Amino acid sequence: MKTSFIQAKSILNKSNIGGYTLNPYTGCSHGCVYCYNQHFIKIIKPKEKWGQFLEIKINAPELLEKEIAGKYKNKKDRVFFSTITDPYNPFEKQHQLTRRCLEVLSKHKWSVDILTKSDLILRDLDIFKQFNKKISIGFTITTINPYFALFLEPDASMPEKRIEALKILKKTGIKTYVFIGPILPYFTNLKEIFEILQNNADYLLLDTFNTKKENWQGLEKILKRHYPSLIKEYQEKLCLNRSEYEQELKEKINILSQTYKIPVKILF
Ligand code: SF4
Repeated sequence: MKTSFIQAKSILNKSNIGGYTLNPYTGCSHGCVYCYNQHFIKIIKPKEKWGQFLEIKINAPELLEKEIAGKYKNKKDRVFFSTITDPYNPFEKQHQLTRRCLEVLSKHKWSVDILTKSDLILRDLDIFKQFNKKISIGFTITTINPYFALFLEPDASMPEKRIEALKILKKTGIKTYVFIGPILPYFTNLKEIFEILQNNADYLLLDTFNTKKENWQGLEKILKRHYPSLIKEYQEKLCLNRSEYEQELKEKINILSQTYKIPVKILF
């Protein structure tokens, strides 16, 4: 992993779904084979290869303080961590940029939404409590099978660890959710996931797999190596008969939501 320290010029980015996004880092070492950033990074940083570089925005907390006290003065909005990194990637342990940005946001009484695949998030429990309910924390779960997770998301916390962290956060009264996505045929066992999340998440977000060039190539490589017989099924479900597949999936999700009494938001 090639790391570099950079001085960011701005830190809050307006999101087209409302609020702002904040990326204390650009890049991620979790190595998810399906990561959409493999595609986006080609557009914004054509010389870099996703998963092999990390930019550490060393001035992120100070810049955030400056932006909130300056151009966003008198505004109390919501910030989503993050879109082009995992805010709790392993480098956060040392650099604490996410933690220090959270301190700034808590001080200014902004709301926060965090999505991660790392149990390092538990380190910041003390800060989450300061948000006084103006925070929601989500974990991405694609599979709960540790063997599948090892080749799909090799360097993220194991799903079991994420679920343990989710339970701890939920117990402390923090609003929690799980993003089940991308739903991968064969690997994402929805029934098993709903069962385990019952009473441990306030709601679920679900999405299918968007077969953009680079993220499909990443997944296809793994399928070819471990499950070549699945490639045909993937092509049929995600390309040839996508609308039929999605319709069946929606029906299944709605039944599971009623059975396990977990509210869902289907994103496809
Ligand atoms: S944790 Fe998120 S940003 Fe990082 S590689 Fe996985 S999908 Fe991409």
